[in-house]
Amino acid sequence: MADFGALIKSAPQRLNIIDSMLKARLVLSRHRRCAASVSGGSDSDIMLDLLELVRPESCEVRYVFFDTGLEYNSTKHHIGDLEAKYGVTIHRRRARKTVIAACHEHGVPFINKDVSEYLSLLQRHDFDWSDRPEDATPEKYGRCKSGLDWYFDRRPLSKAGKHEYSIVKHKLLKEFIERHPPDFAISDRCCKYAKKNPAKEFYKESKADLSATGMRRAEGGRRAGIKTCFSLSKDDSPDSYRPIWQWTDEDKAAYKQWRGVRYSDCYEVWGLKRTGCAGCPCNSRAERDLTLVESFEPKIVRAARNIFHASYEYRRRYIAFKTQKP
Ligand code: SF4
Repeated sequence: MADFGALIKSAPQRLNIIDSMLKARLVLSRHRRCAASVSGGSDSDIMLDLLELVRPESCEVRYVFFDTGLEYNSTKHHIGDLEAKYGVTIHRRRARKTVIAACHEHGVPFINKDVSEYLSLLQRHDFDWSDRPEDATPEKYGRCKSGLDWYFDRRPLSKAGKHEYSIVKHKLLKEFIERHPPDFAISDRCCKYAKKNPAKEFYKESKADLSATGMRRAEGGRRAGIKTCFSLSKDDSPDSYRPIWQWTDEDKAAYKQWRGVRYSDCYEVWGLKRTGCAGCPCNSRAERDLTLVESFEPKIVRAARNIFHASYEYRRRYIAFKTQKP
């Protein structure tokens, strides 16, 4: 690696980029083995480039790609291109239970992972969607407190005064569900089986003392609960590190240009804004994306539509409901 000081000077003079380069060097130098997840998405491309740019010799970085069974071929080719470009090995791990199998067994995601988790919990307790708070007793539903608190907006507001873990975060969702209860199984478990469990296995097998992902706060969702780029582990799992946690879209664009990073065809050719599992219903653009990609990857598009169609349809009805209400 070039002289680190010179490297910093040559980087785009943006606080987040400089700060992340210095921090990444420091964090990696304090760990021996880092397991870094590479998804083939733009954030993980930037993370990989950054890690390869600043990592000290003393820290081994093992890269891994989790194939959920619903990956675009273009993403898989891109993983090979990254290996060639950086001279690294990206280990492939295919989920023992793919997204399709998990969705068949447990249900499909709807809106986002939090909504899916709470609705799934309520469904598993045979929740009556028109119940009033006083009807939903522990005697009636047993161990379902977090789902009931979410549905009845009983959790305290966040420090910023927001309803972080409440159905009211989604405009008129409760009113919609009361009138049109879901008639299909909803669940976020595909992520557990296709991503989280294989990741845990990989960390263990790699004897990693640090895990890294390209997560960014700006992407929102469940990340809202995470405060910083680094979390010290409290058990035998590795410390968690998010090297580009603070980055804005502008930081990414400046870094991409500086380093000549090329994203996968999903972005560069088809114009998608994000990748990951084809057609994941947690992506509000999922149906539009599938239409864009259809002629390039017809098989995966067909598979995504087959598995997620009920969730797409329900979301369309929810959007129409919201739009009709004053
Ligand atoms: S990204 Fe979406 S489809 Fe893929 S595993 Fe996670 S929730 Fe399921």
